[in-house]
Amino acid sequence: MTKDDISKLRNQLDSGKEIVIVTHKNPDGDAIGSSLGLWHFLQKRGNKATVITPNDFPDFLRWMPSNEKILKFDSQTEQSKQIISKAGIVFCLDFNTLSRIEELGEEVKKSNAFKIIVDHHQQPESFSDFLFHDVSACSTAQLVFELIETLGEKNKIDADSANCIYCGIMTDTLGFRISTVQAKTHKIVSELMEAGAQPLIAQENVYNSNSEDSLKLLGYSLSEKMKVLKDYNTAYIFLTEAEHKKFNFKKGDTEGLVNYPLSIKGILFSALFAEREGTLKISLRSKGDFDVNKMARAHFNGGGHMNASGGDLKLSVDEAEKLFLSILPEYKNQLVK
Ligand code: 5GP
Ligand code: MN
Repeated sequence: MTKDDISKLRNQLDSGKEIVIVTHKNPDGDAIGSSLGLWHFLQKRGNKATVITPNDFPDFLRWMPSNEKILKFDSQTEQSKQIISKAGIVFCLDFNTLSRIEELGEEVKKSNAFKIIVDHHQQPESFSDFLFHDVSACSTAQLVFELIETLGEKNKIDADSANCIYCGIMTDTLGFRISTVQAKTHKIVSELMEAGAQPLIAQENVYNSNSEDSLKLLGYSLSEKMKVLKDYNTAYIFLTEAEHKKFNFKKGDTEGLVNYPLSIKGILFSALFAEREGTLKISLRSKGDFDVNKMARAHFNGGGHMNASGGDLKLSVDEAEKLFLSILPEYKNQLVK
């Protein structure tokens, strides 16, 4: 980023304009952590800002400071629309195509505000006035830290902001266990701790907050539903609407489930197809250079990162399984070497 770019951004932030921060649908730890981390920083700066999400987020994120102030567009539509129409700056965090935020995207599109994307997904759309984008960043939360650092305002990261940014980094790296973690990630975490982040708060709330039902759903999914295709170094799980109901499914209960099959020695690709509210929500994870982002874009109306992507299908469980098994051979030479 050039000095001109930085002063352009600083001028915007110093202009007194109202700010809206939006993030993607079904917000995860990085979406909420980066949004609230930025929000606390902006509070400290004296900016007026509001975080708006397309829909609600899981309970295991409901501890982050000021999470209760977040507006949910699907249930607080009119209030959200009004705030967006008055905003002079819109931050778009952890997504880069307006279709990812559905109806909320229409409002962002209509707005004449100065739009800033902070994101680490591939292929950003060109709707922003300012792009802070790095696909090699482990998380958008890390990029929020780097953006604040670039502005020369790290001293305005307080403990609340630091705890939120820490949570974003922790969740998007599965607890610092994947290849996207860089040396600078650990340096940033060290600075966040100096600013007051307490790793145990995020770890307890995110990883040790299972309900009895959600842990049983995990056990059931692995013991009864996981199918392993040794010939493809692949494992996959289908969960029906009825199975979700049987375990009193709540948003977030299957978060992380798709990662378990990758812990089987030799498995390079894992897929979860979860039937909820008449749609099959698909999560894809891989190891090494098998690119699930390409598969999600080509077959599942989705996208994401090389090793973690998602999408959806409007098909029955049976139809989707047939489709999945029919496309796998296309990828065999990448999965089996
Ligand atoms: P998850 O499997 O946890 O829902 O998503 C994994 C990754 O894929 C995330 O980085 C998320 O942003 C991306 N992703 C999930 N669902 C979709 C989708 O429907 N469309 C796109 N473009 N990306 C998605
Ligand atoms: Mn992210």
